[in-house]
Amino acid sequence: MTQHPRIILLGVPGSGKGTQGALIAKTFGIPTFSSGEYFRNLRREGRLPAEISAKINAGGLVSDEDVNVIVVESFLSTQEAQAGFVLDGYPRTVAQAAFLDDYLTKQSLGLTAAVYVELPMDTAFRRISGRRICPNDGSVYNVYFQPPQREGRCDLCGATLIQREDDRDESVRTRMATYEAITKALIGYYGDQGKLVIVNGMQTPDAVFAEMRRALDDQA
Ligand SMILES: [Zn+2]
Repeated sequence: MTQHPRIILLGVPGSGKGTQGALIAKTFGIPTFSSGEYFRNLRREGRLPAEISAKINAGGLVSDEDVNVIVVESFLSTQEAQAGFVLDGYPRTVAQAAFLDDYLTKQSLGLTAAVYVELPMDTAFRRISGRRICPNDGSVYNVYFQPPQREGRCDLCGATLIQREDDRDESVRTRMATYEAITKALIGYYGDQGKLVIVNGMQTPDAVFAEMRRALDDQA
């Protein structure tokens, strides 16, 4: 493994790639940048550039160029990112991936790997759509994999468990389809570059991480 790894995470919602990103960051002492979270925060805090929020408010999609500019300005060009990084949720298109390659090449840098946490769609679907949360203490359950002792009730406090709006079936199906299309294109792109590392997401987070680490060592 190189000293300053630059890693991209790929995987459908429910694949656990966020957890893996956090583990990589902690192990190698590098920052993670989750573009989805970052954009949500910017939007909530009203800090998106005016022309971009106008686009979003008009129901339009933010262009690749807009996304590239924001990611460079807010993260890639910062001192923090010079130590290496884990990117989660960026790039989302092949055009963004090509931009990132150019950006790094200009600094005589390159990506270490694109890690794809692979998980069958039906499992990913159950991991998310089965999720139930206690509104009192934040305990998380899953009706398929980790059900509470009493149906619909928190083991700790007995409160009625809730399902997040985002985790409802239709919403999950839409997110899955979107991510599958995105991921497929990027898998092809990084596969052609010999940068793709595929790990089996059907394991405990620690086992996924161990497999990823071995694969990254081989890659380096
Ligand atoms: Zn509870």
